[in-house]
Amino acid sequence: MSEEALYRWVLWIFLAVAAVTFPALFFITAPYGRHAGESRLPTIDATLGWVVMESPSCLVPLWLWITGAHRGDPARIALLLLWELHYVHRAYIFPFRRRGGERRMPVSVALSAFAFTSVNSYLNGRWLFGFAPDGAYGPSWLADPRFLLGAAFFLVGFAINQQADRILFDLRKPGEVGYKIPRGGLYRFVSCPNYLGEIIEWTGFAIASWSLPGLAFALWTVANLLPRAVSHHRWYRERFAEYPAERKALIPYLL
Ligand code: NDP
Repeated sequence: MSEEALYRWVLWIFLAVAAVTFPALFFITAPYGRHAGESRLPTIDATLGWVVMESPSCLVPLWLWITGAHRGDPARIALLLLWELHYVHRAYIFPFRRRGGERRMPVSVALSAFAFTSVNSYLNGRWLFGFAPDGAYGPSWLADPRFLLGAAFFLVGFAINQQADRILFDLRKPGEVGYKIPRGGLYRFVSCPNYLGEIIEWTGFAIASWSLPGLAFALWTVANLLPRAVSHHRWYRERFAEYPAERKALIPYLL
């Protein structure tokens, strides 16, 4: 089987697994962070876990760019830059900004996330620098409304995600481990603006790249983060009697 045929199979399987994962995550919450519980699963240092599991997202597309086709096309490079803006931060800055003492995470969570980020970054990187049709991202793509709208969405989502995560980090002094009610920014409206920002980002990337792998990643992000936002929201309400009643889980005024 050619690599391109295999690529198509992997992409459809990736989409099918997202469709199964989405409803499942309303019943099973990934056991890390506040939902880690008292599991007896083997664990690793959470900072190391984040670096390991997010590194493929940063490194694989770079490798595919260096070794792939069309590596000088400005529009493809612009899409790669958006991607790397997010993932250099997520893999190598975000893990070291987290506070909460020496937290650990199950090895199984880190491994499954590593598998996910490896496949996802292969699908998107190989599309951009390999299997996208030759004329798909010519210089005029940079002025195409889909690229402009998608890139704007991406940058707005990135800013929302950054602001929300910064508010969370500031809730703890160094070494402190507990949870508090986050306030300010979009926390006025929802419990998980960091997840909302992430979903806007990857929806923007799907629009800007106008591609099936981009869409698959956006759907996966919703499948992962919508159920987790609902779990976080329920968790806050159960723990804090004074939790703002008007706050929704993920989408202001709606959900
Ligand atoms: P969380 O919101 O659960 O936690 C983010 C950080 O803030 C953690 O260090 C957490 O500590 C801390 N924190 C959270 N709430 C509080 C609080 N009330 N009081 C004090 N500290 C708090 O996010 P995740 O860890 O699930 O995700 C981190 C990032 O990764 C997000 O930006 C998310 O969008 C992204 N992500 C993307 C996915 C995708 O599919 N694209 C999937 C998963 C995450 P602790 O660890 O101790 O709970």
